[in-house]
Amino acid sequence: MGNLKVDIIPCLSDNYSYIVSDGNQALVIDPSESKPIINFLEKNNLELKFVLNTHHHFDHVGGNLELKNKYNILIAGNANDKERIPGIDILLNENEKFNFNMNSIEIINVPGHTSECIAFYIKNENIIFTGDSIFSLGCGRLFEGSPQQMWNSICKIKRLPNNTKIYCGHEYTMSNAKFIQSINNNTQIKLKINEIEDLRAKDIPTIPTTVGDEKELNIFFQADQDNIKSLLSKDFLTDEEAFKIIRSAKDVF
Ligand code: ZN
Ligand code: FE
Repeated sequence: MGNLKVDIIPCLSDNYSYIVSDGNQALVIDPSESKPIINFLEKNNLELKFVLNTHHHFDHVGGNLELKNKYNILIAGNANDKERIPGIDILLNENEKFNFNMNSIEIINVPGHTSECIAFYIKNENIIFTGDSIFSLGCGRLFEGSPQQMWNSICKIKRLPNNTKIYCGHEYTMSNAKFIQSINNNTQIKLKINEIEDLRAKDIPTIPTTVGDEKELNIFFQADQDNIKSLLSKDFLTDEEAFKIIRSAKDVF
């Protein structure tokens, strides 16, 4: 436990790629672009072994082929997304384990943002990489999936231990916090906004968050709560209906 090191690599305007290292061997999750990844690997004398992709969007796979040309690596992604993930070598399926040296990485399907989004869960380290499915205080836009699918994906994440660290694909925390405040203005979210402001002023990522913190603050995680449903409508809402209303409101926020 605690053998792996996670480094956050800011890419493009607000993406995060993650370098996971075990001694001097490394894998990278969602390399948006190759340059910042190569710089980090060289500076820290790391040997890149794998690229893991959460989904096919350009800002998550943009560095795949350049990294593959430069290093002796294998690229892993959802088997169902093999036509859309550049350079894919290893086809992953739900509940399968991907082994990185002695570390077992579990594949969890989290459709909604795209139909084939996956998350990488390292149980021994209490870490999950969620791509654009779950953000700190938010969730991804539904480009290919239904509200029902995304709500199910969120419920899978909610079932993980509260101390699970969540590493997501973008720095969207402040705008997500402001959206929550627009619906459910309370002391907790005000304090959180101050905290985010402090971090961002120093250019520090607000990532990782944890499953426990998201359950307390992330309104998308709370679509099954009566107090949230009553803020949305006078009528009785199912969890999925409440989630759909929140997601649609965020789309135009
Ligand atoms: Zn995306
Ligand atoms: Fe993205």
